[in-house]
Amino acid sequence: MTPFDLQRILLDELPVSFLYEVAFRASLAFIAVFLFLKCSGRRGIRQLSLFELVVILTLGSAAGDVSFYHDVALLPVAVVFLTLLMLYRLTIFAIGRSKHLHAFIEGVPVTVVKNGLYELKSFKKLNISSSELLMEFRQRGVEHLGQVRLAIVETDGDVSLYFFAGENVRPGLSVLPPEHRDEYKIALHSGIHCCINCGFAQRIENGSGATCARCNSGIWSAALTTHRTDAN
Ligand SMILES: [Zn+2]
Repeated sequence: MTPFDLQRILLDELPVSFLYEVAFRASLAFIAVFLFLKCSGRRGIRQLSLFELVVILTLGSAAGDVSFYHDVALLPVAVVFLTLLMLYRLTIFAIGRSKHLHAFIEGVPVTVVKNGLYELKSFKKLNISSSELLMEFRQRGVEHLGQVRLAIVETDGDVSLYFFAGENVRPGLSVLPPEHRDEYKIALHSGIHCCINCGFAQRIENGSGATCARCNSGIWSAALTTHRTDAN
């Protein structure tokens, strides 16, 4: 084999006229995928669950193969599409009838912040890092956890937020990036500090440290007390 042989890279052994067949195959794949999505009953793709993503990836792979492999026959791929469609509709039907199956396949919403504190056990379950969550909070106008009554990660990955009304906002852990959030073991001033691991707030005097009463961590950040503005 000669490396960088243009004939081999562009067409290999195939005749130029095979390109017409590729166009024909790709059109059929396009129509098949379109019909599949139409028959699946979905209205959009913005919020795909893990299960739907698996179906779509499998579909895409089959559609890709049949488009440009000269030795992939059309009928078996058509059967793949029909089988996928049947399984998809069957699963959707079964999910609608069983709560347990629904939770197993689609997942369940997970509470990550409750009354201004991280729900630490949820973090392990979700396998998300707190930095991803912090970004989501900031993009939704949250400055510190004390503003958040409830944060729930939905099954599609979106985060639903519920806020404390103005007078109920409590001292909370800053969700800002490191350059706007000091972290230390020994307090640099007396006042309310928040555990950076769980959000727990407690008073620490200047020059002393403390072990978090809630999670035993010992790294602190000055608590913020700002309110949310209506603009957010
Ligand atoms: Zn803590």
